[in-house]
Amino acid sequence: MKQLPAATVRLLSSSQIITSVVSVVKELVENSLDAGATSIDVKLENYGFDKIEVRDNGEGIRATDAPVMAIKYYTSKINSHEDLENLTTYGFRGEALGSICCVAEVSITTRTASDIFSTQYVLDGSGHIISQKPSHLGQGTTVTALRLFKNIPVRKQFYSTAKKCKDEIKKIQDLLISYGILKPDLRIVFIHNKAVIWQKTRVSDHKMALMSVLGTAVMGNMESFQYHCEESQLSMLFPVTLASRSTNSGHSILKHF
Ligand code: ADP
Ligand code: MG
Repeated sequence: MKQLPAATVRLLSSSQIITSVVSVVKELVENSLDAGATSIDVKLENYGFDKIEVRDNGEGIRATDAPVMAIKYYTSKINSHEDLENLTTYGFRGEALGSICCVAEVSITTRTASDIFSTQYVLDGSGHIISQKPSHLGQGTTVTALRLFKNIPVRKQFYSTAKKCKDEIKKIQDLLISYGILKPDLRIVFIHNKAVIWQKTRVSDHKMALMSVLGTAVMGNMESFQYHCEESQLSMLFPVTLASRSTNSGHSILKHF
């Protein structure tokens, strides 16, 4: 893991990343996906304000990288902004873990394939390690954020009504559903206050992923189209009613793409 050069930080840094519970979950889940995880557990307590935990079975973080993993502008994903041309990861700014440390009490438990046990690191508000101890978890990484926004009353105030809190849970569910469709071979479980809100098992392809997310009733009303263009192929699914509104075959819809 390396520190990005100052010129790259100036170009890429974003001052607003962690503004909501859903933004914490998004950053942590994307880190799990970048680490090659095929299984992700998202657990919240009290709508995420008491605890947000994201556990994955990805590649883990090496002990030599741990001291800088949550220091802003350290990333293993790019070396400078020129690497953005060939970006294959969600993350690249090296800001998310550091930003979460500013607004919550963060600990990270991680184990790589070559470690013989996992290590739990407790971090301070600027992402430095306060303490570390051996732990019992398998390969992968678990990030825990406690007492989110406890030092920013104005942010917490935004969630003062039950409706706002419930909307946030729905947004997180929608976010996880999107990743579930995008990554058919990903298993995801979303738990709030120990109750399973939503889950998805591993499936073989996008159609099966859509089936498991949208259900057979909705999928039974979809018509699929294949569009070939030079070397690439685009597969599309349309609701039958939308497809048949233009023409019976739905081909006129394709002209819009
Ligand atoms: P970025 O994702 O932009 O690199 P982050 O602050 O989100 O920045 O993460 C910093 C670094 O910590 C990542 O580059 C990665 O090396 C490591 N990391 C974070 N989360 C995980 C994870 N779940 N599994 C493995 N490595 C991780
Ligand atoms: Mg990230």
